[in-house]
Amino acid sequence: MIIEATFVTSAATASGLPREGLAEIALVGRSNVGKSSLINALVRQRVARTSAAPGKTRLANVYRVARGGAEPFYLVDLPGYGYARGAESAREFDELARGYFDRAGRVGRVGQVGKNTELLPGPPDSLDLHDLVSALILIDARHPGLESDLEAWRWLTATVGRCALVATKIDKLSRAERLRALKANEAAFEHPVLPVSASTGEGLDELWKLIERLTSRNPNNRRPPRPPRRLPKS
Ligand code: GDP
Repeated sequence: MIIEATFVTSAATASGLPREGLAEIALVGRSNVGKSSLINALVRQRVARTSAAPGKTRLANVYRVARGGAEPFYLVDLPGYGYARGAESAREFDELARGYFDRAGRVGRVGQVGKNTELLPGPPDSLDLHDLVSALILIDARHPGLESDLEAWRWLTATVGRCALVATKIDKLSRAERLRALKANEAAFEHPVLPVSASTGEGLDELWKLIERLTSRNPNNRRPPRPPRRLPKS
């Protein structure tokens, strides 16, 4: 399957983000959770910069991604939370992330103005930006139920229509540890969690399926599917 991924822009404020009427998936997670690695593994090229030193840039990086014949969508890599001055709190969830989701939650509609698509006050015959945006929150499989992640999840589920949970770095756990960690994560979030590894590629097919559902224009397809209970092979 051919995957096209291009870097579109780095935006410091939500107003700098493109509005083209394409579906958008925002990736949210603590700094160092493995977000850049996962983006690169998903699109099978190095579009996102991985960093050993966490959280220098407070920018949203936007990628335009198309897989196979599917309609393109925007992957929006939001700044990580939970590192500012050591405080592990999603309250410090960056202004940009808040602005981004506020923009999506705003009562407004995306419409065509000349060649551009803009947020319009109406009429209701155009696309609702809220309908186009979904969020994937990434959590480190090894650290179930961190307060900063729980806070971010609570905030996101109250703000964004469609959210799903992805546990990263699953390769770092043994088979027995995986089972325990996934159970603990699902109990903490009271929601299914999809285990993945950017290093081994485990779970990426399932993640693509999840992304296809989230970006689908058919509202019946939009409810995130329950990830399979079977764990990826170690
Ligand atoms: P970001 O700050 O969330 O973008 O995190 P990065 O993608 O830069 O990853 C942070 C660190 O975790 C790097 O040292 C990565 O090599 C490592 N890492 C990321 N994903 C995985 C994974 O799936 N498995 C393992 N073993 N290490 C990973």
